[in-house]
Amino acid sequence: MTPEDYDVLFEQSLDEAAFSNSDEGLGWTEANCATCVHDRPARQGDPARGCPLILVSLMDRRPVQWIDGPLDEHGAYSLAGQYHCVEYRHEDDGPTDPEPIPDPPGQLELFPREPYTGVRMWLRPNPAAFPAGKGAVS
Ligand code: SF4
Repeated sequence: MTPEDYDVLFEQSLDEAAFSNSDEGLGWTEANCATCVHDRPARQGDPARGCPLILVSLMDRRPVQWIDGPLDEHGAYSLAGQYHCVEYRHEDDGPTDPEPIPDPPGQLELFPREPYTGVRMWLRPNPAAFPAGKGAVS
C-alpha cells in the first residue's frame, strides 16, 4: 500500500464517517498509526507520503481496512481499539508489503498464486494495551 493507492482505497471505503469527533480520530491514530510503517514518512515531515487510509478517513469515509475492534460487555469500545487496521505494520517489523515465499527453483506451479493473494492481517500494536470500554460508546 502506497499513497498512490489513494483513489482505489477511497473507492473501496464505506460512505460513513470513521469517527464521531476529532478526539476519537486523534485517539485512535495516536494509538495505532504512531508506530505504523505506512505513516512514517508523515512523522518524518513528508505528509504527502503518509498513510492514504488516514487521508480517506479525513474525507468522512471509513476505510474497509479498518474492521471493528472488540466491545466490552456493555457494548463499548476503547478509543485505541475502536478499529483494527488490517494494514498495520510496526515500523521496526521489516518490509512494508508481505513477501511471499518464493517457489523452489525448477518447481512448477499447480495453480497461479495471484488470485489467492490479498490483504494480510497484521497484529495489533499491543492488544493488551487496548481493553474495550475505556473510551467512547458505540
Ligand atoms: S496502515 Fe492503518 S495503522 Fe497504519 S498508518 Fe495507515 S491507518 Fe494507521
